[in-house]
Amino acid sequence: MDFSLTEEQIELQKWAHEFAEKEIRPVAAEYDEAEEFPWPVLKKAADAGLYSLDIYMNAQQDPTGLTLPLIMEEIFWGCAGIGLAIFGTGLPLSALASVGTPEQLFEWAPRMFGTPEDPKVAAFGVTEPQAGSDVRSLRTKAKREGDEWVINGQKIFITNGQYANVYVIVATVDPELGHRGQASFIISKDDPGIRPGKKEKKLGIRASDTSEVILEDCRIPVDRVLGGIDRLEGKLDKARKGESSGRASAALRTFEVTRPSVAAQAVGVARAALEFSIDYAKDRQAFGVPIAQHQSIQNLIADMAVEIEAARLLVHRAAWMAASGQPFTKAEGSMSKLKASEVAVSVTEKAVQVLGGYGYIRDFPVEKWYRDSKIYTIFEGTSEIQRMVIARALTA
Ligand SMILES: Cc1cc2nc3c(=O)[nH]c(=O)nc-3n(C[C@H](O)[C@H](O)[C@H](O)COP(=O)(O)OP(=O)(O)OC[C@H]3O[C@@H](n4cnc5c(N)ncnc54)[C@H](O)[C@@H]3O)c2cc1C
Repeated sequence: MDFSLTEEQIELQKWAHEFAEKEIRPVAAEYDEAEEFPWPVLKKAADAGLYSLDIYMNAQQDPTGLTLPLIMEEIFWGCAGIGLAIFGTGLPLSALASVGTPEQLFEWAPRMFGTPEDPKVAAFGVTEPQAGSDVRSLRTKAKREGDEWVINGQKIFITNGQYANVYVIVATVDPELGHRGQASFIISKDDPGIRPGKKEKKLGIRASDTSEVILEDCRIPVDRVLGGIDRLEGKLDKARKGESSGRASAALRTFEVTRPSVAAQAVGVARAALEFSIDYAKDRQAFGVPIAQHQSIQNLIADMAVEIEAARLLVHRAAWMAASGQPFTKAEGSMSKLKASEVAVSVTEKAVQVLGGYGYIRDFPVEKWYRDSKIYTIFEGTSEIQRMVIARALTA
C-alpha cells in the first residue's frame, strides 16, 4: 500500500491551492457578505482551466480516482461557497454522464460549461417542498404528449437554480411505480415553461446560488429524457411487471458517485479551520504564554488534526474504489461523506473555541467556516440518510 502522491498529483494540488490562495481566499468574505454569485472568480477559474469539462474528463481517466478529491480539498480550503459556484456544475454533469446516452453527453455537457469567454453553469433538480430525503415522493410530473414531454412541478434548494444554462430535472413519469417510475430530463433555460423562482438566503456557502426552479407546462422534445425513450420504456415495463432492475434510482446513483468529491470539499473546509487555529494559537498570548502551550488547546488541535486525517483517508479510499470499479459493498462512499461532513462541523466548531471571542466575530474567517461546514451534513444525503445507507448495506 502506497500513500504517497505522484509528482503529477502534487503539481495538481499545488495548482489548485495557488488558485484558492490568490483568487478565492481574498474575496471569500466579500461574497459571503454580499450573498452574490462570484461570476468574476468563475471566469478566472474558466480561464485557468479549473472550471472546464476537461477537468472532469481527465478525472475520469485517473485510475487512482484522486484528481477530483485533491482539487476539491484545495479549492474548498479557499471558500466553500465560491468552491460550490465553481464545482456545482459537476452534479448535473454527473447525472448526465451516468444516465445519458453518448449523444446526449456530447451535445449537452459543453453547454453546461459554456466557454472561458462566456462561462455557463448547470443545475440538478431533485428536491421538492415535500420530497428531500424521500426522493420517492417527487410530485413533479412529466407527461408525454406526442413528440413532447410536458413537465409541471416545483423544485427547491437547487444549486445554480437561478443562473443555470442547462437543468437536469428528475420527474415522475408513472407515480404508481415510486422511484422506478421516475426519469431525468435535460432542459435548456431557453425551453418554454422553465424559470428560476425564489433565491434562498442561507446560513453559509452564501456565494453559491440556491434557488427554486418552476416548471409550468415546460415543453421539451421527447428525446430529452436521459438515456433515451427506449431505455425508459424498457425500465417502466420491467417495473410494471414487478421485475427488479437491480439498480438504484438515477438520482440516488448520481449522489453515490459524487459523494467522495463532496466529502473532500468538507475536508478542505476543516483543514482551513485547523491551519488557522494553529497559527492563531502560536501567536495569541494568555497567562503569559502562547495559548498553544495550554494543554486544553493542544487537545483541541490534536483532535482536529486526527479527525481530518481519518476523514481524508476514507475519502481517498472511496474515490480509489470508485475509480478502480470496486463496488461500495459497505457503502464506503456514504462512509466518507458522513465522516467528512461531521468532521467539518466539529473541527470548525473547535476552531471557534480556539479563537475564543475572535472566533465568533466576522473579522476572522473562522465563524464563516463554521457556518459553511453545516451544509455537508445536509445536502447530497443528510447524515441520517448516510447512516441508513451504511446500516442497510451492512445488514442486507
Ligand atoms: C444549500 C443547499 C443546496 C442544495 N442543492 C441541491 C441541489 O443542487 N439539487 C437538489 O436536488 N437538492 C439540493 N438541496 C436539497 C438537499 O439535498 C435536501 O435539503 C436534503 O436532501 C434534505 O432534504 P429536506 O431538506 O427535505 O429534509 P428532510 O428530508 O425533510 O429531512 C429532515 C430531517 O429528517 C431526517 N430524515 C428524513 N428521512 C429520514 C429517515 N428515513 N431516517 C432518518 N432520518 C430521516 C433528515 O436526515 C433530516 O434530519 C440543497 C439544499 C441546500 C440547503
